[in-house]
Amino acid sequence: MKYCKKCTMPDTRPGITFDEEGVCSACRHYENRSKVDWKAREREFAALCDKYRGCNGPGGYDCAIAVSGGKDSHYQVYMLKEVYHMNPILFSVEDNFPMTEAGKHNLQNISEEFSCTIISCKPNISVQKKLMRHFFEKYGKPTWYVDRLIYTYPLHMALKFNTMLLCYGENVSFEYGGNADEETYSARDQIENGVAVGMPMEDLLIDGITEKDLSLVMAPSKEELSRLDPFYMSYFFPWNSYYNYQLA
Ligand SMILES: [Zn+2]
Repeated sequence: MKYCKKCTMPDTRPGITFDEEGVCSACRHYENRSKVDWKAREREFAALCDKYRGCNGPGGYDCAIAVSGGKDSHYQVYMLKEVYHMNPILFSVEDNFPMTEAGKHNLQNISEEFSCTIISCKPNISVQKKLMRHFFEKYGKPTWYVDRLIYTYPLHMALKFNTMLLCYGENVSFEYGGNADEETYSARDQIENGVAVGMPMEDLLIDGITEKDLSLVMAPSKEELSRLDPFYMSYFFPWNSYYNYQLA
């Protein structure tokens, strides 16, 4: 196995590449941050917000944020709602497992401190049980169903709420090494980042599961996806987990 000379990330990380000096793509992207014109990126972000602010009329939601409830979610909500005066609706996926006290507190804190509504998806537990077992036995990947929903659910919900501007935190493939080499603000291809790719139907239609049970884990159609404007906040502002933690 190969390890990055700087950060020790192993080459088993999906999509990671190493240069001739044995340094991983994530480390090189991090070094390149100092060459980015962050003021220009910030102006781009302001223009994007201007484009959508108030798009669903006074009082309507004008953007959406996919949140888990942690420090990065706090930062995203803070930026959009308090700094850029957007009116976000928040989407999250629970997973039918009991939440820790800290997890419960964090989600409540976001809603309360920023005065936001969160719409949580409690997945179909019958399907979840069957697919967790199937994916564990066949691929050693029990959480595929929930991981996939974390990607697909906000897309479906943004379409339903007509909030085309959909905020994600960092571009995992770009920041930590993966298949994204060109940095772009758009998260439209995120669904292909390798964390929870689509699975063949024969792996899903098991134990009496039908297509009707799966509509939220299917990606929206290409036409629907092309109407959305999903973006990574890490493109516009240098991502700093420790700062986000302090803010939260
Ligand atoms: Zn590295």
